[in-house]
Amino acid sequence: MDTVVYKEPAPIADKENPFESMMQRFDIAAEMLELERGVYEYLKTPVKQVTVSIPIQMDNGEIEVFEGYRVIHNDALGPSKGGIRYAPDITLDEIKALAAWMTWKCSIANIPFGGAKGGVKCDPARLTQVELEKITRRFTANMLDVFGPDKDIPAPDMNTNEQIMAWIMDTYSMHTRRTENAVVTGKPLIIGGSLGRREATGRGVTVSTLAALAKRGMNAKQSSCAVQGFGNVGSVSAKLLGEQGIKVVAVSDVSGGYYNKKGIDVTRAMEWVQKHRTLEGSEIGDSLTNDELLELDVDVLVPAAKEDQITAKNASRLKAKIIVEGANGPTTAKADPILDSKGVLVVPDILANSGGVTVSYFEWVQDRQGYFWSLERVNRRLERMMHEAFTNVFRTAEKYNVSMRLGAYILAIDKVAKTLKVRGIYA
Ligand code: GLU
Repeated sequence: MDTVVYKEPAPIADKENPFESMMQRFDIAAEMLELERGVYEYLKTPVKQVTVSIPIQMDNGEIEVFEGYRVIHNDALGPSKGGIRYAPDITLDEIKALAAWMTWKCSIANIPFGGAKGGVKCDPARLTQVELEKITRRFTANMLDVFGPDKDIPAPDMNTNEQIMAWIMDTYSMHTRRTENAVVTGKPLIIGGSLGRREATGRGVTVSTLAALAKRGMNAKQSSCAVQGFGNVGSVSAKLLGEQGIKVVAVSDVSGGYYNKKGIDVTRAMEWVQKHRTLEGSEIGDSLTNDELLELDVDVLVPAAKEDQITAKNASRLKAKIIVEGANGPTTAKADPILDSKGVLVVPDILANSGGVTVSYFEWVQDRQGYFWSLERVNRRLERMMHEAFTNVFRTAEKYNVSMRLGAYILAIDKVAKTLKVRGIYA
């Protein structure tokens, strides 16, 4: 068989970016799978990358032009799926990495979707609701040929929410002249959203944490945890982990970290954020820095903020026995071997946070059937699928004698590569 030619993993760059981090793990997994060279090339290259300009008349009457992106990494398993993020510092490279992670995530989650990601370079904190709506509608209109319930289905991601998904759905529907609710997931319930979607990623993080604790022979009720990030994923994870008896001793957001050795009152923290936007002034604990939070002596660390938080610089100082990645790409590739050598069990992002896209799949199924499930059914099916995914990744890691991270990549890439071979190459 014509296998990949390199024998050494790609050199580790001085400064890692998410795409390099993704590719370094991909290369190692590809080599272990002895992927054919052509398949390797195919899987590393996004099938489509679209950049659009979004001219908007701002509230002050001036025109500003924003840039929007959608990258479809792979659609071998089905229509591509992935969130849309709004942030001032996003780059096409970052979106490319995130799109590839969605391909691997959907493959592991065993749902019939490929991977995509999109975003608009803007600072939502400085935009009015009217401006935000205009940006969303124009972005959607410019992506009409890309999006579609059978083609590419967006969802919420960093700084986007149910309301933004509603505008995407409405704009798309206006152009197709019929209500098309399956074109986007993470919508408000009233227009075809799914019960349990908002909590799904945090619920999946909780299922993964409990499974990881069990593998380590640890008891949830005697365990402590720190959660970095208090957005949708971090806050819900903290709440549900607490409900399982795990003591959440620290949380953080843009305003900083908060530590309480008796346990953070997560419900109070969530109510505070509802009213005041950040945790600042909430008096839920003593303040600590982001670095201090990551290095706390806890059993479980849940990075649920953004990329590149656990790096070669701080990995050796981390004390957690288990890391469950709520965010996408919170650990750089250079940090992986350091954590492995310390014996830390890392439940990788493409497994740990796949609860969100799994319930997005449920939402899409419900929209297409026009039949909506009870919360109990959504949660039961989510928990079952998360358990299966965790077990499959764990077994693959054991079989190849590698970390769960590499096990996840091997499992994911193998399935997409096999699908590709069965479908064949159209020419
Ligand atoms: N943005 C989420 C993720 O990164 C959800 C994507 C989706 O539901 O399509 O997994």
